[in-house]
Amino acid sequence: MHIVIIGSGIAGITFAEEFKKLQPDARITVLTHEDHGYYSRPMLSHGFSREDVETKIILRSFEDLSAAGIEILAGAEVLSLDRVAKAVRFRRRGEEFVLNYDKLVLAPGSDAFIPPPFRAAKDLYRVLNSLDDLIALRRQRAAILARGETPRWAVVGGGLIGCEAGSDLAKAGDRVVLFHALPRLMERQLVEADSATLLEVLRNLGIEVRLDAAVQGFERAGGNYAVKLENGSEDGFHGILVACGFKPRTELAQAAGLEVNRGIRVDGFLRTQDPDIHAIGDAAEFTDGRLYAYVLPIRHQAMWLARFLAGQTAEPWQPPAFKPRAKVHGFVAAHPYLF
Ligand SMILES: Cc1cc2nc3c(=O)[nH]c(=O)nc-3n(C[C@H](O)[C@H](O)[C@H](O)COP(=O)(O)OP(=O)(O)OC[C@H]3O[C@@H](n4cnc5c(N)ncnc54)[C@H](O)[C@@H]3O)c2cc1C
Repeated sequence: MHIVIIGSGIAGITFAEEFKKLQPDARITVLTHEDHGYYSRPMLSHGFSREDVETKIILRSFEDLSAAGIEILAGAEVLSLDRVAKAVRFRRRGEEFVLNYDKLVLAPGSDAFIPPPFRAAKDLYRVLNSLDDLIALRRQRAAILARGETPRWAVVGGGLIGCEAGSDLAKAGDRVVLFHALPRLMERQLVEADSATLLEVLRNLGIEVRLDAAVQGFERAGGNYAVKLENGSEDGFHGILVACGFKPRTELAQAAGLEVNRGIRVDGFLRTQDPDIHAIGDAAEFTDGRLYAYVLPIRHQAMWLARFLAGQTAEPWQPPAFKPRAKVHGFVAAHPYLF
């Protein structure tokens, strides 16, 4: 049996490793954009205050995975799926290839969500969604520090990633202004009292938090950047980090005629409408509209799918109990997170 996996995040690699354990003779191929190896995405938001992050973040090198019998095609971009021929078309090092599968596992993860008004100005901001993004941000920071200046950032979005990354930039010694369109922080994950505690924690870290501040766009101002607001603008930023949520990568599935909504639609067996194609991780959406974009349930999905495809369970996947937690320095929620 040849299993092809698209994506080398926690979903794709956990599945590959588990399936290899259960079926050592199976051929497993992972296709991925990445070149760095399998890394911890949650660690990205603590990538400024730690010096060693670019090495510590790698959980498994691609060489180690290959040595364990998992074929990794790094630096590959999957272009399309052919469900009739059971094949994927991909580009790697300037050439196009076709690879056949018996079972296909879609684990393409998610992009950073960019609100429509920001899209035309994509040269003016950065996101923190991949190790390449972190490396680019760290280089930008190092260049500012090398000029003897203190980096000053606009972080747009007071959700989980904006608050975590803002707190880490502040911990690293930078100046941070955090803009949030709503009257309280992390309103999707926290009860009101915890949002208030979080606000205090961020302010104590030296972060200027602007609530009810709906950002309209960005512009260059002098040598730096400005954030446009409804009633004027705020300038003097060395960089802008947009952290406005995530967008599951559904394009390949949609182009192949699979049902997509916010994510790729799957049933309780993590199966798309095509019985030979499964989807897991940030990209998978269940029939009740839920997405499980946290590492614990994703790891659980991947382990379950390996057992299912190895014929070791016939029961549908059941989400595990899990407690999301924001990694904001100094913040502990007093109440359970909302999910
Ligand atoms: C900054 C940050 C902090 C976070 N912190 C936490 C946390 O503290 N706790 C927590 O539980 N969760 C956290 N999360 C969420 C968690 O990291 C994600 O839910 C999880 O990483 C998703 O894993 P995945 O394997 O589904 O997708 P991903 O990790 O996105 O991996 C998908 C892979 O597919 C590849 N790919 C996609 N399309 C193609 C294609 N066409 N061709 C080739 N390759 C392709 C991508 O390059 C990528 O390597 C955080 C996320 C971020 C961004």
